[in-house]
Amino acid sequence: MSWVLVGGLGYERELWERLEKPSFKVVGTAYLLATESFSPAPWAEVAFAEYLTHNYAGLVAESEGILHLSQSLFSCYLAMDLALAYHNPAWIFLPGKPWRLFFLSEKEGGCLGCVEPYHSPPPALVWERFSLDWFDTLAAHWKTPPHQSTLWEGKKTYPLEKNPHCPLHRKEQPYLSGKEQLVVAVSCGENSVAITPSFEKKIDLSVYQEMIRPFVRIRKTNPFFLEIEYERFLCLVFRQGRFIVKGTKEKNTALFLYRQLVGV
Ligand SMILES: [Zn+2]
Repeated sequence: MSWVLVGGLGYERELWERLEKPSFKVVGTAYLLATESFSPAPWAEVAFAEYLTHNYAGLVAESEGILHLSQSLFSCYLAMDLALAYHNPAWIFLPGKPWRLFFLSEKEGGCLGCVEPYHSPPPALVWERFSLDWFDTLAAHWKTPPHQSTLWEGKKTYPLEKNPHCPLHRKEQPYLSGKEQLVVAVSCGENSVAITPSFEKKIDLSVYQEMIRPFVRIRKTNPFFLEIEYERFLCLVFRQGRFIVKGTKEKNTALFLYRQLVGV
């Protein structure tokens, strides 16, 4: 049996070595904009060049559990939904200021959604950097995980109780069912990709503009959208969370840019 490692930050190999090289099936590694491809992971049992979606349910069902270290908070909730559906444990590094670590127990306790329903995060570009010190915490508990779901915040730990109102425990499976997802459409004619969240993602464009300004070139602003240049791509960010990137037909490039520039 292997673990499913959901990656994206580029620390996948370090994590694998730190945990004494368990069998890993990897979904998504560091994404390289220069070649518009995921970095290879020859050390893994298998590596899927994609971001995690609900289509990976079968892979999770056959696994020992999920380990999650990526630029998407949304993906953390999807991973929890998948783990809960197949009664698997999950170790999840939670992006934010500061980063946290969460262990979802298959035995007892709740998920993160029990205490913190999903909320749209800021763009990954403005996050605090992930600290490799978190690998020490994980390595210390990896072989003997807590009995109950536990959250590590700094040096403190908190057991998480199950909340009966949490949608992830009411068999609604909002993420696993695909009800909540990013819908990606590659344009037939133009060299562009559009992403539309199926869930609410409201962006206050004036606040957003100030946040993203140090990282991009702002080309146009109006009450409905912002046009920005990042690397060689031209992107439109709409106030309802819709996103169009021009200069590519690669859906993973669009998803990478959505995580970095919009935040999900
Ligand atoms: Zn829950």
